[in-house]
Amino acid sequence: MDGDMVQSVLQAVDRYLSLVQSILTNPRFAAVIPMVCLSAFWIGGEGALVAVAIVVPTSVVICNAFSHRRDTLPTADPVTGLLCRDDAVADTELALKENPVRAGMIAALAVEIDEFTEVDVRHGQSAGHTIQRACAERLRSVVREHDVVFRLQGARMGVILFSSAMADLESLIQLSNRIQQRIQEPISLDGTRIFVSASVGFCAPGRAPSQSAEAVVGAAEQALEDATSNGTGAIRAFTLDMRRRARNRGVLSDDLPKALEEKQIKPWFQPQVDAETGDVTGIEVLARWDHPQSGLVPPGEFLPAAEHLGLLGRLGETMLYQSLNALRAWDATGSDVPNVSLNFSSEELRNPTIVEQVRWELDRFDVAPDRLNVEVLETVIAQTSNDTIIRNLRAFSEMGCRIDLDDFGTGHASIANIKRFSVDRIKVDRSFVTQIDSDADQQNIVAAILTLAERMQLDTLAEGVETPAEHAVLRRLGCRHIQGYGIARPMPFDDVGPWLARYRSRATKDTTGPAARSADNARPAPGPRGKTA
Ligand code: C2E
Ligand code: CA
Ligand code: CA
Repeated sequence: MDGDMVQSVLQAVDRYLSLVQSILTNPRFAAVIPMVCLSAFWIGGEGALVAVAIVVPTSVVICNAFSHRRDTLPTADPVTGLLCRDDAVADTELALKENPVRAGMIAALAVEIDEFTEVDVRHGQSAGHTIQRACAERLRSVVREHDVVFRLQGARMGVILFSSAMADLESLIQLSNRIQQRIQEPISLDGTRIFVSASVGFCAPGRAPSQSAEAVVGAAEQALEDATSNGTGAIRAFTLDMRRRARNRGVLSDDLPKALEEKQIKPWFQPQVDAETGDVTGIEVLARWDHPQSGLVPPGEFLPAAEHLGLLGRLGETMLYQSLNALRAWDATGSDVPNVSLNFSSEELRNPTIVEQVRWELDRFDVAPDRLNVEVLETVIAQTSNDTIIRNLRAFSEMGCRIDLDDFGTGHASIANIKRFSVDRIKVDRSFVTQIDSDADQQNIVAAILTLAERMQLDTLAEGVETPAEHAVLRRLGCRHIQGYGIARPMPFDDVGPWLARYRSRATKDTTGPAARSADNARPAPGPRGKTA
């Protein structure tokens, strides 16, 4: 019997005992006890009367004892062995009632294992459980004995901190960093090592809308929502403004059609460079919503709504139009941007007229098709047998566009599919690039992907390169292009020209190679990030 089944059986027994107890301890039941005794005597004589007189009070005592056990023994999560959220909050409320001085002094953290669904799908459910258990143990090891660690929904865990040493923002940021570092350490699984990262949201003492444990934990969860909507590995402190923005999120969906109409959704640009020479070889286009009230909204927050509303096609059109406009503007100023890479959703690729629409726009801007890279997720080509998608990608390729296979390594595309979908370049997913300089397993995986690409005569790009050391290893392994915060974060159109000028002027002075040139963009200092792209 596995942990999940044991838990279900215990829950069923618990429910049964609750029912019996609620009957036996109900005051109305006390009123019918004389009648029960008389009936017993009438039916079964003295023996039955004695039995009822002993059994009823004994049952009440036993049920009460079990109920006490149920109240005092909280249910543990079968996967991690942690307390569940409700019990952790209830225990804390109780502690605060006994010691009201501590109310207003507690802090809470909410931690999520990044991209856990993908990890779970890639390695299987049992591996997913091992990873969650390892992360729970690590979380426990970072906080103090009397802090309460508990399980939230999915791949999320929480901590309620009673330590007065954790009263200020700085200590909580440091603690969040320590948690992230511990979780990032490799996890051994069937002879291989797996890397995961974590996002953290926290609520500092006295910052929640009220001082109850529920409010503090809820605020930490809200901060985590904010952290995860800004990519992976982020840390966020709860602010009241965050609550307002969350309320607005529903409103975002209502605003989306108008936002597309009014071009509030703009392309931001992230350079891609030659790993060997450092030359700029292209620019990826990433959507950002410049919302009049909420500020800059990342795609993670509005793409699901766009998909739900069937607006991904409209989004693609405006991204293409604005990107080609940008390309022509860079051409006019001699900025020498060779090409732009656009992300195409499967919804767009299922549109039978997409290739004609793109051809028409390229003609209108007089841009050669080989300056447009079509980025398609590996998951799309791995999971589709849709003829239109295959036909469209072939038609893009025949027209001269290049096909980039995005997030490679996460989608299980077969070699046959890579050929069938006319792929030109593989974009090695960020999860394989992280810490490639310090981990031999990561290096082996990327080396294997690069060998496969070479055999298939495919070009390669590594995503999410954050440090010069990662860049150096990728260059040594023979990866052709790199992209990531270590070179540049995504930026608005107005910043691209000045960035290119600075980057190229540094290149001419630089005598130590491309790795040194990207050094000033190295991994950002730990701590909650500001409004980032
Ligand atoms: P993607 O295509 O894999 O884009 C890379 C994502 O990683 C971007 O997130 C980028 O900001 C982030 N990134 C780049 N370098 C680094 C790094 O060194 N470290 C870390 N931690 N992150 C890095 P972003 O802009 O939030 O986009 C998220 C996803 O949204 C994109 O993932 C893409 O799948 C989708 N997306 C963005 N724009 C569009 C669009 O116009 N159309 C469609 N269909 N999807 C889009
Ligand atoms: Ca992409
Ligand atoms: Ca990607």
